[in-house]
Amino acid sequence: MPRPIQATIHTGALRHNLARMRRAAPDARVWGVVKANAYGHGIERVFDGLRAADGFGLLDLQEAQRMRDLGWRGPILLLEGVFEPRDLELCSRLNLWHTVHCDEQIDMLATHKTHQPHRVFLKMNSGMNRLGFPPQRYRAAWTRLDALPQVDEISLMTHFSDADGPAGVARQLRVFNETTRDLPGERTLANSAASLRFGADPAVRVDWIRPGIAVYGSAPDFPDHDIAHWDLQPTMTLAARIIGVQQLAPGDTVGYGSSFRADAAMRIGVVACGYADGYPRHCSTGTPVLVEGVRTRIVGRVSMDMLTVDLTPVPQAGFGSEVTLWGRAVNGAVLAIDEAARSGGTVGYELMCALAQRVPVVTD
Ligand SMILES: *Cc1c(COP(=O)(O)O)cnc(C)c1O
Repeated sequence: MPRPIQATIHTGALRHNLARMRRAAPDARVWGVVKANAYGHGIERVFDGLRAADGFGLLDLQEAQRMRDLGWRGPILLLEGVFEPRDLELCSRLNLWHTVHCDEQIDMLATHKTHQPHRVFLKMNSGMNRLGFPPQRYRAAWTRLDALPQVDEISLMTHFSDADGPAGVARQLRVFNETTRDLPGERTLANSAASLRFGADPAVRVDWIRPGIAVYGSAPDFPDHDIAHWDLQPTMTLAARIIGVQQLAPGDTVGYGSSFRADAAMRIGVVACGYADGYPRHCSTGTPVLVEGVRTRIVGRVSMDMLTVDLTPVPQAGFGSEVTLWGRAVNGAVLAIDEAARSGGTVGYELMCALAQRVPVVTD
């Protein structure tokens, strides 16, 4: 028997969440963002659940190739554009749309030999200061692209830094709209947080939205709102089994560093999941887990191959019992990945992306 740990990708939940994001931005088209191997889920595993998307956004040319190998003929957008001139040949061959965020990428296009002109998304740095042309140089970049025979359609794009927080999108939206006012072309602005929180505003949802994390069943603004609030479903369950049980007496300690000390007699379960499976080591005492679908907590430190859980609320549990680290238990109970992430001082994104290679994955 293989070590009892497994991840499950829920196709129906992917379908549900994608439909949910469509409702958040009525009349916009939806890029399903599948970068980072579909946020750790596996591009091949999510494709069936997301095939109703209007296009797919990703970063890696190999991932674009994998989408084409799956038979996807619709739009694919390279969210960071190309990295070197020969990437443009693959863009031509695979018919990829690509972001243009800097002068070097325009230089590459200007010397690219192609029979098929490219569709590009010109990215503005409207305040996040990661990728994009600053507003005062944006129109010059547009004019330069517009003059290139290698380019046939220019769409307009920016990315919000605070769509999930109190600052919101107003300031960046104003900068973007003022700069692009009379420029033609389709627009795309909103990630998951902007789509859910501000998608009712036609100026935010515009032509295309670009949801990632919400499609994967994580609330972008947790803990202000959780997945139940946004009507999102977990798309990844990480489950393992109890492989040992210990009875603790008052004063006994657990695990490396003896960081947890029992103040009363208690039973703990030893679970076949550790940081080498992608479960964060920072999720120590107090992090919620489900045992046989009942909510309890981790006690002590997470080690490489094991972690330990408090069995007090589940006295019937023992060797072989199901432990849900995040996702959905067999009895239907849900533990959002956001809750585990928060206990470890991080976000759902990081946990799902970090699922380790050694964990077997199935789809349902
Ligand atoms: C990752 C990414 C998204 C998706 O963001 P989420 O917060 O996961 O919805 C959208 N746009 C760009 C440019 C991205 O890189």
